[in-house]
Amino acid sequence: MNVKIAVLPGDGIGPEIMKEAIKVLDQIAKLYSISFSYEHALIGGAAIDDCSEALPQSTIDICKSADAILLGAVGGPKWETLPPEKQPERAALLPLRKIFNLYANLRPSIIFDDLKNASPLKNELVEGGFDILMIRELTGGIYFGEPKGREGDKAFDTMVYTKHEIERIAKIAFESALKRNKKVTSIDKANVLTTMVMWREVVTEIGKNYPEVALNHMYVDNAAMQLVRYPKQFDVILCENMFGDILSDEASMLTGSLGMLPSASLSEGTFGLYEPAGGSAPDIAGKGIANPIAQILSAAMMLKYSFKKDDAYDKIFNAVESVFKDGYRTIDIMSPGLKQVGTSEIGDLIVSKLIN
Ligand code: NAD
Repeated sequence: MNVKIAVLPGDGIGPEIMKEAIKVLDQIAKLYSISFSYEHALIGGAAIDDCSEALPQSTIDICKSADAILLGAVGGPKWETLPPEKQPERAALLPLRKIFNLYANLRPSIIFDDLKNASPLKNELVEGGFDILMIRELTGGIYFGEPKGREGDKAFDTMVYTKHEIERIAKIAFESALKRNKKVTSIDKANVLTTMVMWREVVTEIGKNYPEVALNHMYVDNAAMQLVRYPKQFDVILCENMFGDILSDEASMLTGSLGMLPSASLSEGTFGLYEPAGGSAPDIAGKGIANPIAQILSAAMMLKYSFKKDDAYDKIFNAVESVFKDGYRTIDIMSPGLKQVGTSEIGDLIVSKLIN
């Protein structure tokens, strides 16, 4: 199997954590007879410094010719004084989502049992760990709905969804649940918003095609509360764009560190963009202490969702878990009595677990 990956390390810790993900992919290539060809390209602040554009056409072309995109992170204080529409996140990430029609954002929120002390929740709530998959609609809803604007003392945005947009994201949720614990919780605000009444109807309709999957509906305010009250009740959580933006950050934080959280943004077919949920962490960039696991698990998600290599995903996941069991931690998830290691050391440890 030959696959082409557009590698966009970006800014801050991006290049450091990307290096570790590539180490892991190189080892996976040997184990599973896959040939990865990596095409590196600039994005974000690094691209602005090079050619005054956060997403140059050359980078778009490399992404278009690839089977998947592996992204680090963009942004940092150096570019924060630019006009907002030229800043790395707005000028690079939003266009990428649009160009490649990345309508489905998947964020696993997993707490490993060995890391339960890193969670802000009480131990009894996270005992045994938990594993939630947040699925967020990414290209519709109030963030993109028209009209939006300001008129004198009035400002407005529009929440809008078509049946097709709801159907395709609901299918991803049910298909994902089939491979997991067969439960979908669909989030809405059907008691107040007309768009969300339709959301609930369409999700229910799609759910009828998946009789093995249990479907329940939850209002977004209740979901925000239930996530901290009893996170283990969830398997797959399905959200529209804005609710998903907020709830996925809440679910992420339950696991303790941003450095642990991968994500996938998928379009129709197998193309996807894979990146850590966190940003470029300028406060720790260049110090060799960033946690590369979110980037490594993002690469693992790429193997699973774009290249259908579920076994390789499991192999990487188990290697990470095994490194934790041996007591190794980066500083962001460190606890007393354990062994603190840096970015490249933890990458090497994960690679060594893949070999053994
Ligand atoms: P951030 O996610 O970069 O950092 C928040 C905190 O989490 C920091 O203390 C950081 O050190 C820590 N952290 C993040 N990733 C870590 C890792 N892998 N290992 C250890 N610690 C980690 O968020 P921020 O500070 O609000 O933003 C910094 C820059 O990143 C800004 O320019 C912002 O615009 C950008 N940003 C980019 C993305 C993206 O590229 N997708 C997402 C969010 C923020």
